[in-house]
Amino acid sequence: MTAGGDGEVRARVAAAGVTAEAGAEGEDKPVKTERTRMEPPVGAESGPFWEATRNGTLLVQWCTSCDRGIFYPRFFCPYCAVDGPDNSAADQSDQSDQSGQSGPSGGSTLEWRTASGRAIVHAATVEHNPAATGATFSHGEPYVVALVDLDEGVRMMTNIVGCAPEDVRPGMTVTVTWEPLSDGRQLPLFTPAAKPA
Ligand SMILES: [Zn+2]
Repeated sequence: MTAGGDGEVRARVAAAGVTAEAGAEGEDKPVKTERTRMEPPVGAESGPFWEATRNGTLLVQWCTSCDRGIFYPRFFCPYCAVDGPDNSAADQSDQSDQSGQSGPSGGSTLEWRTASGRAIVHAATVEHNPAATGATFSHGEPYVVALVDLDEGVRMMTNIVGCAPEDVRPGMTVTVTWEPLSDGRQLPLFTPAAKPA
């Protein structure tokens, strides 16, 4: 099985589960994560992303050539096709492939930037029957899978936690929250920035 940035990050968010609402409702005790989930692999493209999660920092790639954010992590900007700082894994491509590109030479137009952690829900759906999908991490409880638009202009698939699933609405402002994984990495999930009125 080859590691692909697309697959790994999408698998991560698909596997991310509900955490806060069951344990933290009404009490301030720390959320203890014992729920079973598939933990995402770390690929070469996404290494910096995952390392930063250990400190609760959400990173997005930024293309300085076309001045826009990129998510999921990649070796090449999907908009202008200029390659990023790590060219080692792209050495199989012929250099002449890029001769017609307008980006600056040197292949360093992709950088990592710290995201604000704020986002707007673009769309959300509630999985009411986790067992039907084989998901065990929510222990049978409904969970929310959402597309959120970060302030940096990138769209992520994630879970919305910390509120009732039916309260999640498009347009809702959310902020990143972290769920520990077993190896010290953390899953970026999102929680409402303010209680729905
Ligand atoms: Zn670009």
